[in-house]
Amino acid sequence: MTARYAVFGQPIAHSQSPHIHAAFARQEGIALDYRAIEASPAGFTAALEAFAADGGVGANITAPLKEAAFALCQTFTSRAKLAGSVNTLLRKGDYWHGDTTDGIGLVRDLTERHELDLRGRRVLLLGAGGSARSVAPALLDAGIRELVVVNRTTERADALVDAIGEPGRALSRYWDDLRDLGDFELIVNATSAGRDREAKFELPLSLVNSMTTAVDLNYGDAAIAFLAWARAAQCRNTVDGLGMLVEQAAASFQQWHEVRPQTDAVYAELRTTLAPLAGQD
Ligand code: NDP
Repeated sequence: MTARYAVFGQPIAHSQSPHIHAAFARQEGIALDYRAIEASPAGFTAALEAFAADGGVGANITAPLKEAAFALCQTFTSRAKLAGSVNTLLRKGDYWHGDTTDGIGLVRDLTERHELDLRGRRVLLLGAGGSARSVAPALLDAGIRELVVVNRTTERADALVDAIGEPGRALSRYWDDLRDLGDFELIVNATSAGRDREAKFELPLSLVNSMTTAVDLNYGDAAIAFLAWARAAQCRNTVDGLGMLVEQAAASFQQWHEVRPQTDAVYAELRTTLAPLAGQD
């Protein structure tokens, strides 16, 4: 039976993962069967079981299934356990092992592609969903000084910082108090608010200092609103989520095929075709 790989989500037609993994596989000379599989939250367990029965050995998981996939894993990496959600599944015998590569994907994009030194930075994280839960510990591991998490639903920000368990370094605050939080060297938008075409980010200018880099996990149209605010606020650099997309895929690919693909060519191609106008530093 051919080893099969797939990305599960709903909707899934927009997913770039089949394209990215096919490009990595070509580069490494690996024959790959990687498909996109649409699954609703209600139908996901059955879809994943059918996939495993049909030779499925690795899967990426995207919205809205990351937490449901976590519940279907028997073992996890420590970062996935901390995040409580997974974007990468690896078949081990008759069970799934789960990992989350969003956080390391973002850190790799920022530190290697954009050559940002994250050490000592004071960071504001907007959002407390699945990706924020992966990104927060990865930023702390990269040596940031302090992480302030602000989310529309405050309880989710509280739960995120409680899970991290470093009250001196990671804390939650109310969205309404953004004006009183001082300034940050890094502001990360991990919300999906920009997916609403009418969305506007009206964040206080007091969040920005002369060093501030603004990062949106989103790319393309969904990144327009936040990055427009960041430019108007005169952030020093703006970065969208396209590099993170490629780097989190590379980290998944490495787990499955035990080789780390080169990401620059795939990134350059997607930059031209997918998000040509997105903000770059
Ligand atoms: P989730 O659905 O898990 O979380 C969504 C987050 O956005 C929550 O914090 C939610 O707040 C917040 N939110 C939604 N609408 C609004 C709004 N109108 N105003 C303020 N906050 C809002 O999504 P993920 O964490 O998985 O993903 C977040 C974004 O990051 C998505 O758009 C996704 O596409 C992108 N992403 C990009 C990746 C990449 O590789 N570039 C990888 C992963 C994600 P609340 O808790 O109050 O509902």
